[in-house]
Formats: sequence, structure tokens, C-alpha cells
Amino acid sequence: MSNVHELTFLKEKIEELKSDGVYRVLPINYGPCDGVINLNGKEVINLSSNNYLGLANHERVKKAAIEAIEKYGAGSGAVRTIVGNMDLHEELERVLAEFKREEAVCVFQSGFMCNLGTIQAITEKGDLIISDELNHASIIDGVRLSRADKAIYKHGDMEDLENLLKEKRHLYRNVLIVTDGVFSMDGDIAKLPEIVELAEKYECLTYVDDAHGSGVLGENGRGTVDHFGLHGKVDFSIGTLSKAIGVVGGYVAGSKTMKEWLLHRGRPILFSTSLPPAAVGAIIESVKILMETSEYTDRLWDNARYFKEQVASLGFNTGHSQTPITPIIVGDEAKTMQFSKTLLENGVFVSGIVYPTVPKGTGRIRCMISAVHTKAELDEAVRIIEKVGKELNII
Ligand SMILES: *Cc1c(COP(=O)(O)O)cnc(C)c1O
Repeated sequence: MSNVHELTFLKEKIEELKSDGVYRVLPINYGPCDGVINLNGKEVINLSSNNYLGLANHERVKKAAIEAIEKYGAGSGAVRTIVGNMDLHEELERVLAEFKREEAVCVFQSGFMCNLGTIQAITEKGDLIISDELNHASIIDGVRLSRADKAIYKHGDMEDLENLLKEKRHLYRNVLIVTDGVFSMDGDIAKLPEIVELAEKYECLTYVDDAHGSGVLGENGRGTVDHFGLHGKVDFSIGTLSKAIGVVGGYVAGSKTMKEWLLHRGRPILFSTSLPPAAVGAIIESVKILMETSEYTDRLWDNARYFKEQVASLGFNTGHSQTPITPIIVGDEAKTMQFSKTLLENGVFVSGIVYPTVPKGTGRIRCMISAVHTKAELDEAVRIIEKVGKELNII
């Protein structure tokens, strides 16, 4: 008789992953997240982190984390609505609101939690959520948790969005249009001015998830809303503290009313312990650094342009990215994974991204350029990408 505790039903699925060639083992990084990392015991150029500005391992940020631990301890001890709301958390929200040039900010434990908690709290039965087809998984899950009806528009297709609004707007009380600010697999920017215009025309609310835009676009990395000068016109502006800011956490920036409501109905705030002091102290320092200087964002863009130009001039298809995210589109899934694997053997780590994360036949490696890369590291990466690209007949 089979033993139920052997989890045979999962073992079978895992075997399927293996026979489909999509089973993976996690690579191990033996040090901090930098331009060059020790991955699985080997030095490699790291073209795969979201640590856009190098703040994850910045001296000032590390020091702030240590100081916060010394003053406040290792953990916050409770959810925010009980005694887990330290003055440090309040300071973080003040600093972020100033940085984002919005009335108020509400912080969550991660960007993922922020989407899960916010979307379900601000929508209900009788509402409609309209979402771009390429929105992030955490938005998709957040939408699933809502009791509102859902509709999807073709990626970046404003005609499709308007058709949905014409057809459905009058059937609902509130309609929420949700989009990523920067789409993470292609690096293109949402058509925010057009989305805001349609939202105003049809009296809808707008929700922008700027995980890859914050710290990257706008003045000193203030994000997509700032990039387009749309302050006050996007109701819910989501950011992550885990990518360019270099630590962990997520937030929504917007009105005081939004914040008041989320403090009562944002479930991750009510039912999950608040961010630890070390993270909060570190984030405050990161945001202060960004407000003081454009040095890091300037270097990020300088590196990104430098890298993109070289890769494109070698004849690779780099898609239509408008940000430091640089896809190199290969097409075939197996070839994409082989490209990534061979690059790693040659000293560059770039993850391969294939179906179902991107549509079939558009497999790619996704190069993430950061402010910490030196020109020498980028040159070396380009040299290896060219060599392997030729070996595999990609160029
Ligand atoms: C990474 C990402 C998130 C999740 O953010 P975390 O802080 O890592 O949980 C949410 N939305 C988008 C668009 C992202 O790219």
C-alpha cells in the first residue's frame, strides 16, 4: 500500500518537470550581490540582478541597517496594527512620500504583498479591474483575490483598452485600470499619459506597479509617474523596495484616504508582521541617498546605453526596451537555455527566460545592467556574449 506521506502526487509532477527539461536547481551566490559574484564557487559577471543602483551592498545602507538593529532589535515583534509599528516605520513612510512627491505612502513587507493586499482592499463586487495582459504575477494574484470582475487588454494596446471601456464602463460602479510601469521581460514603459487620459474620459481609477521603474525612471529614480509628469493623476502608485532600493519591501503612494483605508483593510498589514528594523533603517538610507544625488541613476543609464549599443551593433535582436533591462531575443526555447548555460560556463550569468514567462518562440536571455558594473566588466561581458552568440549561430 502506498504511503500518503511520500507525496507521490508531487513526485510525479516533479518527474514531469524533468522530462519537459524545465526542472532547475537554484544557483548559490556565496557573497553580496555585486557586478561580479561568486556563483556556485566560480567568479562570474552578474547580469541578472535587480540591484540596479548597487544599494544592496552600499556602505551607508549597511551601516544604517546595523544602527537600526542596535536601537530597535532584530524583529518588530508584531503586526503594525498591534505594536509592530515603530517610529522607524512612520519615518520610512514620510521619507518615501517626500521622495515620491505624493500625499501619503503605505508600506508592505514586499512588492508582492503590496499588490495582493492593495488590489483586493480597494475593489469589491460590482467593480471591474482592467489589466494589461503582460502585468506581473503579483498583480494577477491580487486581481484573483478581489471580488471584482476582471478584463484583460492586449499589451500596451490603447484601442483595445478603450473598446473595453466603451463596452463595459457603464455596467460597473468603480473601474480600476492596472498596469506595470515598466514591463520586466521586455523593458518597455507603459503608455501612462494615454492610460490616464482614458481613465479621466471614462472616470476610472488608475493603478501603476512601478517595481522596475522606481529608482530607474524619473528625477533621481522617482519612477514612471514622475517621468511623465503625472503626479496627482495616478491614484495608486506601487513601488518595490527590493529592486533599485536594494533591500526588501513594497509600498503604495497616493492620497491620505488611500492610506487610511489600507491601514484598516490591507490584509498583509493586519495579519503579517511588519518589516524588521534593519530593513527599514537600510531603506530610509537608500532613499535619502537617491534624494541627495543623481550619481547612481546617471551611472545606471550611462552603463545601460553603453552595453545596449554594443550588443545591438553586434547584430543581436534586443527588442524594444526603453530601460536598462536588455533582452537578447533568441526565439527557440532550448537554444535560449543553451545560450544562458554556455555564457555561464564562459563567466557571465544571464538568466534564460522562456515560455510560459514569455510567449512561445520569443525565448530570450535578459541582461540586467546596473550602476555597479565597471566598463571593463561590461566590455568583458560583451566579448563573451559575442563569442558564444557566434558559436551557437545566434549572430
Ligand atoms: C518584482 C516585482 C514585484 C515584486 O516585488 P518584490 O518586492 O520583490 O516582492 C511586483 N511587481 C512587479 C512588476 C515586479 O517586477
